[in-house]
Parts: sequence; C-alpha cells; structure tokens
Amino acid sequence: MVADARIDAEREQMTVMPLGEDFPDIRQGVRKICAEYPGEYWREKDEKSAYPAEFVRALTQAGYLGALIPESYGGAGLPVRAGTVILEEIHAAGCNAGACHAQMYIMGTLLRHGSEAQKRKYLPGIASGELTLQAFGVSEPTTGTDTTQLKTRAVRQGEHYVVNGQKIWTSRALYSDLMLLLARTTPAEQVKKRTDGISVFLVDLKKSRGQGVEIRPIKTMVNHNTTQVFFDDLKVPAENLIGEEGKGFRYILDGMNAERILVASEGIGDARWFIEKAVKYAGERVVFGHPIGKNQGIQFPIAKAYASLQAADLMVRKAAALFDDGKDCGAEANMGKMLAAEASWEAAEACMNTYGGFAFAREYDIERKWRETRLLRTAPISTNLILAYVGQHVLGMPRSY
Ligand SMILES: Cc1cc2nc3c(=O)[nH]c(=O)nc-3n(C[C@H](O)[C@H](O)[C@H](O)COP(=O)(O)OP(=O)(O)OC[C@H]3O[C@@H](n4cnc5c(N)ncnc54)[C@H](O)[C@@H]3O)c2cc1C
Repeated sequence: MVADARIDAEREQMTVMPLGEDFPDIRQGVRKICAEYPGEYWREKDEKSAYPAEFVRALTQAGYLGALIPESYGGAGLPVRAGTVILEEIHAAGCNAGACHAQMYIMGTLLRHGSEAQKRKYLPGIASGELTLQAFGVSEPTTGTDTTQLKTRAVRQGEHYVVNGQKIWTSRALYSDLMLLLARTTPAEQVKKRTDGISVFLVDLKKSRGQGVEIRPIKTMVNHNTTQVFFDDLKVPAENLIGEEGKGFRYILDGMNAERILVASEGIGDARWFIEKAVKYAGERVVFGHPIGKNQGIQFPIAKAYASLQAADLMVRKAAALFDDGKDCGAEANMGKMLAAEASWEAAEACMNTYGGFAFAREYDIERKWRETRLLRTAPISTNLILAYVGQHVLGMPRSY
C-alpha cells in the first residue's frame, strides 16, 4: 500500500533526522523588536486598515526579512528553520507578520530559477530592504484554487510581453516595488498538460502604476492590505521573464513548500499567544468564588489546544528539517500548515471562550487575533486542498479535480 511504504520511509527518516536548531539568539532579537510594537499599535493599524510601516522597517533593518537570501547576494544565508523561528516569535508576541512575510519567501522563485544577471540585479536590494518584493499575483476571481485555468495572458511582442487580465487578493501590492506575476503565455487549448504554458514574470509595480497597472484595495475582516490588480496592455520587458517561458507553474510549486512551512510557523506563534493569554486569565478571573480555570469546561479546551500546538510544532519542524536538507517535504509542509492552522484556531476559540464577554472588547486584542488567525485555514492554501493533497498524493486516493 502507498501509505505503508510511506510510513516505513518516514520511520527510517525519523531515526536519523534531527529536528533543526532553535536559534535562541534570533528568538531573543525578534522579541526585543516586537516589544516596541504592543497591542495599541496593532489596534490602531487595524482600525485604520493602515500598513505597519514602522514595524516592517524595524524587521528589515535588523536583517530578519533577508534571512533566507544567500550571503553572496547580501542576505544572512540562514535555513528556512530560522525563518520559522522569526515568524513564530512575531506572532507569539501578538504582532502580525502578514504585512511583510512574503519578502522572506517570494524571492525563492527568483533565487532558484532566475538568471545570474537577474539575481545580481534584484537580490541585494531585496536583502537590504531597498527593494520590496512582497506581492504575489496568482489568484484570479474566476478561477479560484484551480490555478492552471488562470486567465491573465502575457503575449510576446518583440522585446516585451504585453499583459492583460486581473488578479485578486494580491496582498501588499500597494506596498511592494515588485510583483511576482503568474500569467499564461500559451493558451490552455494549445498545451498538452494544463500546467504547461504558464510563465512567471517580475513586474516593476512602482513604474507600472497608471501605465497598464491599476491597484484597488479590498476591504477585508483582517488588516492584510490586500488588493485587486488590473492589467491593461501592460508592457513587461522580456528580460523580466524568470526561467523558461511556459514552465512557470512548476517554478511556483517549488516555492510553495517554503511558503507553507513559514506561514505554519505564524499559526504556531498565534497558538502560543492565545494559550498564554487564556491560561493567565483563567487563573485570575474569579466567578462563583473560584478561578474559572478550575472548571474543566474552561481548562480542558486550553489543554487540548496546547497538545495540538505541540503536535503541529513537531510536524512544522520536521517539514523545515527536510526542506533544509534538500529532501522532498511536500506532505510534511502541507500537513504542518494544516495542523498549525487548526491548532491556532483551536487556541483562538479556547481563548475567546475563556475571556467570555471581554473577548469582544477590542482592548484585549483577542478578537483581532481571532480574526487574523482564521485566515490561516483559508490562505495561502485552504484546509480542504491540503486534505485533497494528502488523500491523493500520500494515500493514493482518486483526484477530485
Ligand atoms: C486575506 C487574503 C490574502 C490573500 N493573499 C493572496 C496573495 O497575496 N496572492 C494570491 O495569489 N492569493 C492570495 N489569496 C488568495 C487565497 O490563496 C485564496 O483565497 C485561496 O487559495 C482560495 O481560493 P478562492 O478564495 O478562490 O476559493 P475557491 O477556489 O473558490 O474555493 C472555495 C472553497 O471551495 C473549496 N474547494 C474548491 N475546490 C475543492 C476541491 N476540489 N475539494 C475540496 N474543496 C474544494 C476550497 O477549499 C474553499 O473552501 C489571499 C486570500 C485572502 C483571503
């Protein structure tokens, strides 16, 4: 059976695979920065749907957003495990990395598939923060999760590609110099495999606004600075194509594992934040003459969320260890992302329940974090699609799409 073979392979792997370093110095450094950005800061940004520019600047200046870029291109050359530690600590401190986490990983496509000239041109600027590459144009309104059906077209005309179409949910597009864009270069009817004929481009958003690019913010339940992006005869220089024309879908998939592992670590951090808050309040709040934490109806959901957090953390560490060792980690990255999103949601619900009515008062930050962590079950990939991946690719069951 496929599953048996996989379980045997996993057991073998576990006997030799260390779960990665914990980077205590990085944890300490990130905590120090986060302490400067308490709940009031995030509440104000949330109320105004404003970009946390000061927080992003502080992380950039400390070098955390360039952590995964090799030293030869000006970054810190750290493994993805270090990235997970950074994002986990940000979220465990009650902050939110959603405004900038993509600066850490979108560059992966450029790093793995870009030409040496492209890497030299862009990576040092991305590492220093002088250039922001944190807009990722994949999702489209009419195709949703079925990415290979995307409609945005890029047609080669001499030394340019001319792009027409629309993206949706392109987060941070208003705060990014560059965008990694996925567009179809060969019509779907003319390719053998639906994953063929899609290409990846680097688009200079700053230069292109008003010149073929229009960006419109979307109001959402979380402050994620997300937008719709419209392309109307946008001219993209042919030199901005990454890798080979038509192979872009594969390049993007390559980067998904890192994205999943990193985003999962935000869920781990959120779960830690909720559990810490809930435990403290459960011990302090006295109703019916005793702390509410004495009631199993309050205590057990928190304890269960803690167990889920620990289990998710192990899976995310395993995924990161495999990734950093250059091994296949598709199943672990997906499962880690799903388990972390579930654990953070369980912890969020337990915390809401523990705080009773006070959970709804904005000043406690619980309702804000509760809204924010809910996103992890939907984006960047939904729990359903992860289950479909595990069902089909790990367990060998039939495809639903
Ligand atoms: C705040 C926010 C920020 C985002 N940022 C970005 C970004 O920066 N860049 C970007 O490209 N995208 C971004 N996204 C998009 C996000 O990745 C998608 O919303 C997500 O992948 C789901 O796509 P959809 O919303 O079109 O849902 P649909 O594809 O319409 O799916 C709707 C529901 O049906 C389920 N479903 C669909 N097919 C199946 C199936 N075969 N089996 C079981 N269930 C199925 C899905 O799981 C989902 O629950 C963002 C989304 C949000 C909300």
